[in-house]
Amino acid sequence: MTEMLRRQLIDTAIAMNASGLNQGTSGNLSVRCDEGFLITPSGMDYAGLETDDIVSMDLDGKPRGTRKPSSEWRFHAAIYRHRPEANAILHAHPVHCSALACLDKGIPAFHYMVAAAGGKDIRCADYATFGTPELSDNVIRALEGRKACLMAHHGLTCFEKDLARVLALAIEVENLANVYCRILAIGDARVLPDDEMQRVLDKFRSYGVQDS
Ligand SMILES: [Zn+2]
Repeated sequence: MTEMLRRQLIDTAIAMNASGLNQGTSGNLSVRCDEGFLITPSGMDYAGLETDDIVSMDLDGKPRGTRKPSSEWRFHAAIYRHRPEANAILHAHPVHCSALACLDKGIPAFHYMVAAAGGKDIRCADYATFGTPELSDNVIRALEGRKACLMAHHGLTCFEKDLARVLALAIEVENLANVYCRILAIGDARVLPDDEMQRVLDKFRSYGVQDS
């Protein structure tokens, strides 16, 4: 079971880089497992990863295995502790998310798909040095009621039910960030009214649920 999850984690990390979301080894990816979670190792090229290179950690961040975990293991552990619905976490430095985050900007409801991240906007977490408990606290706060947040002067973090969904969500948020950057270059963003975003959120909650 763990072997299969390790393989899926590597395949999703390779797909994350192929999608253009992430460059080199700056991002990281994890998946919940019985013992805690599995996370990509620090500073290793995904394409050459073997399943033994994946680091297993408990929710307090105690690692098992020969490799060093990603330097951002701390906020992965914090998200799994605080959000029982999170089964997979993706962190990357996508160009447009990072550009907005470097202006301390989140993403407002300029497009209905913003609701895909779980709320009426996508917040930008306050800046703190990478790898610190303070950064974990800021990310947890920005993710309240959401599955994705930008991180000031840093990038993007999101979680989902599984690895395929978390990659799809990250691609969606980066697409929204791309469009929002273009809007900001042309003029002021027009935001959908609150009641319309509520309607979209309600539809998303039932979206994909089959009637029996
Ligand atoms: Zn980072």
